[in-house]
Amino acid sequence: MRSHLPIQHNIITNQSYPVNNGVSLSYASICRVNNDNIEPSHISQPVSSLHNGTFSLQSLCPYAEKDGVCEALETGRYCPYIHGDLCDLCEMPALHPTNEKQREQHRLECLHKHETECEEAFAIQRSEDKKCGVCLETVWDRDGDKRFGILENCDHIFCLECIRKWRASSNYEHKVVKACPECRVKSDFVTPTKYWPENEQAKQEVIKTYKENL
Ligand SMILES: [Zn+2]
Ligand SMILES: [Zn+2]
Ligand SMILES: [Zn+2]
Ligand SMILES: [Zn+2]
Repeated sequence: MRSHLPIQHNIITNQSYPVNNGVSLSYASICRVNNDNIEPSHISQPVSSLHNGTFSLQSLCPYAEKDGVCEALETGRYCPYIHGDLCDLCEMPALHPTNEKQREQHRLECLHKHETECEEAFAIQRSEDKKCGVCLETVWDRDGDKRFGILENCDHIFCLECIRKWRASSNYEHKVVKACPECRVKSDFVTPTKYWPENEQAKQEVIKTYKENL
């Protein structure tokens, strides 16, 4: 089916525009980034629509999707594709003017991406200035491993290297090194993490995920 598309294109537009089959998937592939939680059905709809014969007339301009503007239109030339409305989240012409399903799906995906980016920004803000209670260095600024080592039973902040070294130390008895160097509360476990968890619940989730993947 796909191999017929360039011919169809020329008949419909009566002009010879190159059809880039690689580009035709761009909208789905762009929006799939960071969207692991979107159900597969959301993604499969637009992809399957690429396989019907009217694809060339219904598709959003791949050039506008890639660069934000369609150069042909900008310079007064003809472009056979449909040009989308501006999405206020990603500020790209990504909303199909008549395909409600596509608009809704794009907004969902954009929203999800936006949320993920916001969460990450908060996680960075929360983590970047935290200092290790042993070496007193900012964990993210130190040389070597820049991860935290979370203790299960208290919230004192240590870099992974320091807390592991402390717990492996043979200079003290077992119950001393398995305790937090600051508050002496015993923890059986150290969990490495890049971001400092937001709260107790997030911390327990980080620990659980780490244990499950051991
Ligand atoms: Zn265009
Ligand atoms: Zn968008
Ligand atoms: Zn340290
Ligand atoms: Zn502690």
